[in-house]
Amino acid sequence: MENQRDIMLNARNVTKTYQEGDVDHLILENISLSVLKGEQVAIMGPSGSGKTTLLNVLSGLDDVTSGTIIIDRKDLTAMSRHQRTKFRRKHVGFVFQSFNLIQSLTALENVMIPLLMNGHSRSSASKRASELLERINIGHRKNAHPKHLSGGEKQRVAIARALIHRPKIVFADEPTGSLDRATSEEIIALFKELNREFKQTVIMVTHDPMVARSCQRVYYLNGTLKESSTSELETR
Ligand code: ADP
Ligand code: MG
Repeated sequence: MENQRDIMLNARNVTKTYQEGDVDHLILENISLSVLKGEQVAIMGPSGSGKTTLLNVLSGLDDVTSGTIIIDRKDLTAMSRHQRTKFRRKHVGFVFQSFNLIQSLTALENVMIPLLMNGHSRSSASKRASELLERINIGHRKNAHPKHLSGGEKQRVAIARALIHRPKIVFADEPTGSLDRATSEEIIALFKELNREFKQTVIMVTHDPMVARSCQRVYYLNGTLKESSTSELETR
C-alpha cells in the first residue's frame, strides 16, 4: 500500500461531460489514477478518447463534472476557480504539442513569465531563467524569438518555462507530436534527465510508444483507463 505522503496526484472517479445544446456528451467516466512523487507516467489512447480533457481536469485547467482530484494533498475539486488558478500558477507546469510560446517575447522572456506571475523581480527572474536555459543546453539561444528557433529548440524553451517555478507536477500533451524522430529522442532524454536530477513528477500524453517506454508507467485510455505493460506497447 502506497504511503499517502508519497502520492503526488490522486484522482478518484473523475467524470467529465460537455454540454452541447440539450445534449450531454460524456467524455470521461469514473476515471481513477494515482501518481507517485517523482514518477513519470504516460497516457496513450486513440484520438478523441479524452486524453487532453483528462490532462485539463487533472491539472485544474478545466473543472470536473464529478469526482475528486488531489495534488500533493490539496483538493483541487474543493477549490474555487480563483483558488485553482492561483494553485496552478504556483505548483503546475505545462508543455504543449504546439509549444505555445509567446511570439513577441524572446526565449528568455518566455521562460521568465511564470516567475513574474508569482511575484519575482525581473532581475531575479532573468537570472534564474538564464541558468535553467544554460542547464538544458539552450542558453546560447536565449535572446532569440520563437520564430527563429527550430522545433526542438522551441520545445526545450517550453520545457524550461514549465519547470522554472519548480512546480510539483508537469503535464505534457503530446510534447513530441510536432517533432521528428531525432528531436523527439532529445526531448525524451531531457525528460529522463529531469527525472533523474530533480525527481520531477510528469504526466504526459503521447502517441509515440518510444516516448511511452521512457516513462515508469503507461496507461491506456479508451473508455476506461488501464495500466498497460511495456511489452503490450510494442504491438500497438
Ligand atoms: P484526445 O486528446 O484524446 O484526442 P480530447 O480530450 O481532445 O481527446 O477530446 C475528447 C472528446 O471531447 C472529443 O469528442 C471532443 O470533441 C470532445 N471535446 C473536447 N473539448 C470539448 C469542449 N470544450 N466542448 C465540447 N466537446 C469537447
Ligand atoms: Mg489531445
